[in-house]
Amino acid sequence: MTPPLTKLLPVPTPETQPYWDAARDGELRLQRCQECATVRAYPQSSCATCGSQKYDWFAASGRATLYSYVISHRPAPGFTPPFVIALVQLEEGPRMLSNVVDVPPDPEHLPLDLPLTVRFEDRGTIVVPVFAPSGKGDAA
Ligand SMILES: [Zn+2]
Repeated sequence: MTPPLTKLLPVPTPETQPYWDAARDGELRLQRCQECATVRAYPQSSCATCGSQKYDWFAASGRATLYSYVISHRPAPGFTPPFVIALVQLEEGPRMLSNVVDVPPDPEHLPLDLPLTVRFEDRGTIVVPVFAPSGKGDAA
């Protein structure tokens, strides 16, 4: 008998720990380069624009729009197909890969530029940012 499949979990590193700690507290945290002010959506040790290793963390608004997506009909560990894999455009500039939840996985319900709000999915040892259509169960 095989154990039930669960979602794969990111493994925090010293560099990414602040990102995951913030997610646990319900905050999407981004890095901003101290040299050129480029905002990046995933923790990185240096700026892809200018190469600087100096950066600050800040809390993102959590607001985004749907930039592109696919509806996956293939089984994946912990996911029940069909589900939405999306590239979301963050209000602060960068795009990030995530899931769109709380919406039927149907193009009729997924117009491009759909306003989205970050949500946080508790996966036990880690909390992962996902997105849902704005106005549906927003905290604010
Ligand atoms: Zn830079």
